Amino acid sequence: MTFSKKFFVVIMVMAVMVSLFSNTYASNLVNNKVKLFYPIDGIKFTTVEIKVPREFEKRVELFALKALFNNKNVPKEAFTEIPKGIEVNNVTVVNGSAKVDLSKEFLNKVTPNHNIPTILDTITRTLFEFSSINQINITFDGEKVSSVNEWVFNESFKRPVVLPVSNKTKKFNESLQGKTKNEILDMLKKPENLYMAMATTTYPKKVYLDAGHGGSDPGASGTYNGITYYEKNINLSITNAAKAKLEQFGYTVYMRRTSDTYTNYTQIAGLANATDATCFVSIHCNASTNSSVHGTEVYYPDHDSYSNPFPNRITTSTELASVVGSALNSWNLPYWGTNPKVGNYAVLNGTKMFAILVECGYLSNSGDLQYLIDTTNQVDVGESIAIGTMNFFFINGWH
Ligand SMILES: [Zn+2]
Repeated sequence: MTFSKKFFVVIMVMAVMVSLFSNTYASNLVNNKVKLFYPIDGIKFTTVEIKVPREFEKRVELFALKALFNNKNVPKEAFTEIPKGIEVNNVTVVNGSAKVDLSKEFLNKVTPNHNIPTILDTITRTLFEFSSINQINITFDGEKVSSVNEWVFNESFKRPVVLPVSNKTKKFNESLQGKTKNEILDMLKKPENLYMAMATTTYPKKVYLDAGHGGSDPGASGTYNGITYYEKNINLSITNAAKAKLEQFGYTVYMRRTSDTYTNYTQIAGLANATDATCFVSIHCNASTNSSVHGTEVYYPDHDSYSNPFPNRITTSTELASVVGSALNSWNLPYWGTNPKVGNYAVLNGTKMFAILVECGYLSNSGDLQYLIDTTNQVDVGESIAIGTMNFFFINGWH
């Protein structure tokens, strides 16, 4: 995917913190224009810049949301997730907290065809561009509404924060260093060899794998030696390898797709939520207009938009992201960091279980592309994701 970095905070486990948005994130008002975010698929957004008219110069946050809700501003390539004709009554910002008041019409107009997590992502992305806003509360004609369908609306949406990686995850990641995949797999067969957490709650060894894109949606692509390779196919191959390894270790695996089929992205979180999976792992490859950008990235949810998520879902998802990142870092060439990143994606925010999205590398970078189109490497990456996921169960004592 090509999503701009400015919404993500990078967590550096080894004390180096890099805030990728620090230079561009400061204000959603550059040259008197506000930036609006519109979805172009489940995990990608495109932006539009709109000039702020004079009468809104002191109410730029309100203007941005009104502009976001104005269907005339939706670019051709974007989905029109926000229902037409919804009034934004007001946006007031006090001490970093934004009160967003929408017309109750919204509640009547959101149908099953509208993806609420994606709508929330577009609102939060656009408003968190303002440095004046750290949290967002949404009301409808002044009233709080606890949920819309099964999605939360009465909780504050908070600006993505840097979450600490737990000591148990650090300890486990250290234990991976210098070990081969087979050595780790041997350890997994003998849990007494592992650092063991005392589990107070347990979760079933069930994983939902989402091979990104499919069918009419090819995802990113890259061309090598005159042949164009599509992300959807690489994703499926990696996902199949992850599935095989998980099943070999007794895990139940749910697959969003097992062949080249299309799923409307708005349905993916719901499909996963309909299962009893403990973890949701979405597998993608990236692309950038800058061909020197490369490497693997693992994302965890930005917020919960499902009404009844697993306890401590976001913190626990960072652990999953960290151990899967460590596994990839240990055994796969393109990886350049073990640092989980915040991913403001509907598939992550809308799932109820622990969730991550792995970007296995950049198809726009020739080194990553050559690595990722190799079928042996695809198996290797898939197995690393599986091993990382199984490690996550082990460090939590769910085995
Ligand atoms: Zn993708």
